[in-house]
Amino acid sequence: MLNFHTQLTPVDLSALDPDSFATGTLPDSLAGIDIGIRPCRSNGPNISAVESGQKLLIHNYGHGGAGWSLSHGSVLHALSLFEDRHCRRSSPITIIGAGVMGLLTSLYLYERGYRNLEIVAREFEGITSCRSTGYYAPLAMSLNSDKQQAFINDIGFTTFTTFQAIQQGSHPLFKVGISPVNVYAGTGDHSEGTLETQTGLEPYVAKGLLPEPELGEIDFGNGQKHVMRRFQTYFMNTPDIMAELTSLLNQRGIRRTQKNINEFSEINSDIIFNCSGIGARLLNHDNNIHPNLGVLLLLKQPIIEQLHYIIYTRYRSPWSAPTEDNYIYFMPRGNGLLGATFIPFNEGTDEAENMKQVRRIILENKAFFGT
Ligand SMILES: Cc1cc2nc3c(=O)[nH]c(=O)nc-3n(C[C@H](O)[C@H](O)[C@H](O)COP(=O)(O)OP(=O)(O)OC[C@H]3O[C@@H](n4cnc5c(N)ncnc54)[C@H](O)[C@@H]3O)c2cc1C
Repeated sequence: MLNFHTQLTPVDLSALDPDSFATGTLPDSLAGIDIGIRPCRSNGPNISAVESGQKLLIHNYGHGGAGWSLSHGSVLHALSLFEDRHCRRSSPITIIGAGVMGLLTSLYLYERGYRNLEIVAREFEGITSCRSTGYYAPLAMSLNSDKQQAFINDIGFTTFTTFQAIQQGSHPLFKVGISPVNVYAGTGDHSEGTLETQTGLEPYVAKGLLPEPELGEIDFGNGQKHVMRRFQTYFMNTPDIMAELTSLLNQRGIRRTQKNINEFSEINSDIIFNCSGIGARLLNHDNNIHPNLGVLLLLKQPIIEQLHYIIYTRYRSPWSAPTEDNYIYFMPRGNGLLGATFIPFNEGTDEAENMKQVRRIILENKAFFGT
């Protein structure tokens, strides 16, 4: 039985020709193509405290496609490992990394009274945290056991309830960037069309943090309809959140230095938070960390407010090979995002392969939205 029938404005792809890239120029209807690298780690993220000589290293990296969804919980867990050591509040502390993990770590430390803080990062702009699409759902990680999943659920639930407080306006520090959103995901196992999809939200529904999904039909008003499950979650407007974090750091005068760190021994302070994302492969000699490629199309949809929904579904288009596991992935960030790929062990350096993905994304989305 279908419980809803909802009209949605389709993403307008009518001006996007999948073959227009052959000349190497970007079509007018696109703002850009983004190549993002998720910092995946076999066995899940490394959140641990380790003593190495004189130094205390607190690692917090390797969150794959879920770093934003696990952000507050991961940082608070890392802080609890640190505070177990009872260090003086005046101790110098270096935070390596200016992504969501590094910035949040610095702010939480400051709020707990640590004042001798410095963020050191190779880059402050254009990093993975700025490329996230903003879907609250812990996805695209390499987890191998129920124990790891239980840990991810724990830090995810902490993050989710923090976002709840932000959205309701009751968080003491953070105020922006979190809004409720409907997510449409496929059902069933068809030879063509939407397919059964794990959304990453299932543990949140089971815990009662999110309502049960409903089954119904979405209708784009152009003859294109899909039977889908409708979940609710949060959309994280990550550029707005990064801007708020930066402004809070500025207000507190937290020092920032642009520098590549090759070895922890280059850092003078004895307490180091390692939030280096994919950089931890070299910095912490961690061979478990690997890239997972997310190719994104940055759209120029004229009225993005009409598109405040997420589509996250496995999808088999008329052109897909039966074994392909492709996604329709629309996010209302900026003026709309289409993507994304989830390709493990791929750093996005093969331009021809990236363009193949772009072409596939356009073809499949045209079929899905009927535009
Ligand atoms: C296309 C795409 C879509 C995504 N969508 C979502 C989503 O919808 N929801 C979600 O929850 N997550 C999503 N993610 C994942 C999320 O963005 C990441 O998990 C998260 O941003 C990782 O944050 P981080 O702070 O650990 O790392 P980063 O943001 O990569 O920051 C690492 C920092 O460390 C610095 N650094 C690295 N090595 C060194 C070194 N040797 N010396 C000095 N500095 C160093 C870097 O310069 C950088 O400042 C997505 C990711 C991508 C690529």
